[in-house]
Amino acid sequence: MKIQRLSEQLASQIAAGEVVERPSSVVKELVENAIDAGATTINIDVRQGGRESIQIADNGQGIAAEDIETAFLRHATSKLTAIEDLNAIRTLGFRGEALAAIAAVSQLTIVSRAEGADAGIRLVLEAGVVVNRETVGAPQGTVIAVENLFYNVPARLKFLKTAATEKRLIDEFVTRYALAYPLIRFRLTHNGRITFQSSGSGQVRDVLVAIYGPEIARQLLEIESEDSDRSPLAVTGFVGPPGVHFANRGQITLFVNGRWVKDSQLTYAVIQAYHTLLPSGRYPLGLIFMQLPPEDVDVNVHPTKIEVRFRHDKAPFGTVQRAVRQTLVADAPTRQMSAWALGSLDGGESPGWMGSLSQESFAPVQAEQADLALSWLDDLDDEGGELPLVTDHSASESQLPIMRVVGQVGASYIITEGPEGLFLIDQQAAHQRALFEQLQAEWAADNVTVQTLSTGTAVTLSEPQAKLLEQFQDAVARVGLQFEAFGPNTFMVRAVPKIAASADPARLLVAVVSELEQSKGVVEEAGLVTAVCQTICLRPGQALTTAQMEQIIHNLEKCADPFTDPQGNPTFIYLSVAQLAREFGRI
Ligand code: ADP
Ligand code: MG
Repeated sequence: MKIQRLSEQLASQIAAGEVVERPSSVVKELVENAIDAGATTINIDVRQGGRESIQIADNGQGIAAEDIETAFLRHATSKLTAIEDLNAIRTLGFRGEALAAIAAVSQLTIVSRAEGADAGIRLVLEAGVVVNRETVGAPQGTVIAVENLFYNVPARLKFLKTAATEKRLIDEFVTRYALAYPLIRFRLTHNGRITFQSSGSGQVRDVLVAIYGPEIARQLLEIESEDSDRSPLAVTGFVGPPGVHFANRGQITLFVNGRWVKDSQLTYAVIQAYHTLLPSGRYPLGLIFMQLPPEDVDVNVHPTKIEVRFRHDKAPFGTVQRAVRQTLVADAPTRQMSAWALGSLDGGESPGWMGSLSQESFAPVQAEQADLALSWLDDLDDEGGELPLVTDHSASESQLPIMRVVGQVGASYIITEGPEGLFLIDQQAAHQRALFEQLQAEWAADNVTVQTLSTGTAVTLSEPQAKLLEQFQDAVARVGLQFEAFGPNTFMVRAVPKIAASADPARLLVAVVSELEQSKGVVEEAGLVTAVCQTICLRPGQALTTAQMEQIIHNLEKCADPFTDPQGNPTFIYLSVAQLAREFGRI
C-alpha cells in the first residue's frame, strides 16, 4: 500500500485514544483543567455513565475570547513555554492534549468567559471541527459539555463498559480529587441526581465524612508527619486503624503534589506498614499526600499523567512506610487506653517506657526477638507444672514496662501491675501475638522448627480441598506442616511446627486448608502463619497458674509489636494511676 500522511483529523482521533480512554478520563482531564484555572467550585454532571453526556462547570479564570479556538489545537497549552518548564511542573496539565483529544472524539460545546471580559464565547465543535461560534452572556468561568463520546470511533465505543462501571470510575475519581482539594467545592450528579458533594470548607475530614460516612471517617487517623526527618518529601494524610480493612487495595490512594497517581511500590509501602496488624488478605485504607519539590518528580511519564517517577527513587518508599507505621503505633494504645498514651491529657508526663515506642517499634521482627520458649503449652493441662522462665529479659529492649502478675479474671484476662498503673491483658491475644512473632520469624528465615509425629494422623478432605492442599503443599510445608497423600483425598500429617507440637494435627491441617480456601489462590504465606497461631493459641476460659501467666507476660514483653494480636485487636488495656484516681473522683 502507498505511504501517505494521515489527515490531521485522523491523526487527532488516533492520538486521542492515549489521553481519552473512557468517560472517566474525560472527567479527569476537564476537572484538572478547572483546578489549574483556579476554580473554587466545580460541578460535574454525567448522564449514562458519561456515554450520553459529561458537563463540567467551573468558576475559574476562563479562557480569553481570542484564545478559545487555540485551546482546542493539539499541543496548545498556557502552562508550559520552554523545555526547562518540564523539569518543575506545578500544574496538573501541561501537555496541551486534552481539549483537542476530547473534541476529536465527541460533540463538544464550550462556554467560557475570561476574568475581566464583558462577555463569554460559545463554541461548538463536531469531531474537533468548529461548527459554530457566538458571543454570549455568561458568568466568569468555563462550562464544557461533551456529548456522544466516541460517536465517530465505533471501535472505542464497543469496548466501553456498562454505565454502572463508568459511574463507579467517575465517582472514584471525583471523590479522590475532592480529598486532595478540600478548598474546592465539588458536586457530582448522575442522571440529574446528586451523588456526591463536598463543602469546600478546607477540612479533609469533612470530605472523608462525605465519602465514607461518619462512622469510618471518625476512626481514620491523621498521619503524623515527622518533622525531624530532613527529607524534602513531606507526607500527610489519613490512614485507617487496623480494624478498618477492605478486600482489595482500592482504598489506598496516593497523591504527589496534588496529583492522583498510581504507584504499586508506594501502595505496597502502605500495606507493609500494617504488617501483622491486618488479617491476611485484607487491605488498609490510606490517603497519602506527598509534597516534594516539583523538580524532584517527573510527571511526564505517561499521557494520562497517572504515573510519576521520583528522582530519588527509593526514598519515598521508606518515608511513606515510616509515616504510616508511626501513626499506627502512636495510635495503637490510645484506642483502648486513652489516658495512657495521651499522657498530656492527664496533664502529666507519659510513662518513661513510652519513649521506646516511637523509635524502637519499627524494628523488623528479628529472629532473636522472637526466640521464645513457648513449648510450655504442653504442660498446660498439668496444673501448676513448672514452666521455663525467660531469664535474659531486659526491660530496655522491651516496649512494655516490667510487670508483676496480680491474678486472672474470668479465666480469660491477666491482671498485672506496672510502674505507673494497671494492665488488663487478654490472654488469647497476648499468646497469639507471641506465637505469631516466633513462627513468623522462623518462617521468614525459612527455618521453621518441626516436630515429627511418631504416629501420623490421617485427615480426609473434600475433593476441591484436597486439590488446593496439593497445589500449595510447598507453602504449607514452609510453615512446618508436612503431610503426604494417603488414599483418595486423604492425607497423613507427618510433622507439625514445634510450637504447635501439642495441638491436634488434624485441626491444624483443616485450619490451613480453610485459609487456602479463603485466600482464593493468592496465598500469602503470612496468612498460613496466622492460621496456625490462631488454631493453637490459648482460649478464653483456660485457667492459668501464676507461673504460666508470668510466662505469657514475659513472652509478650519480648515481642516487637506487643500492642495488638495479628488481627489488630488490642492485647491489653492500660489504666494509669492518674486515670484510676480520676475514676474515683480524687482529682
Ligand atoms: P493542558 O491542560 O495540558 O494545558 P488542555 O488541552 O487540557 O491542555 O487545555 C488547553 C488550554 O486550555 C489550557 O492550557 C488552558 O489554558 C485552557 N483551559 C482548558 N480548560 C480550561 C478551564 N476550565 N478554564 C480555563 N482555561 C482552560
Ligand atoms: Mg489539561
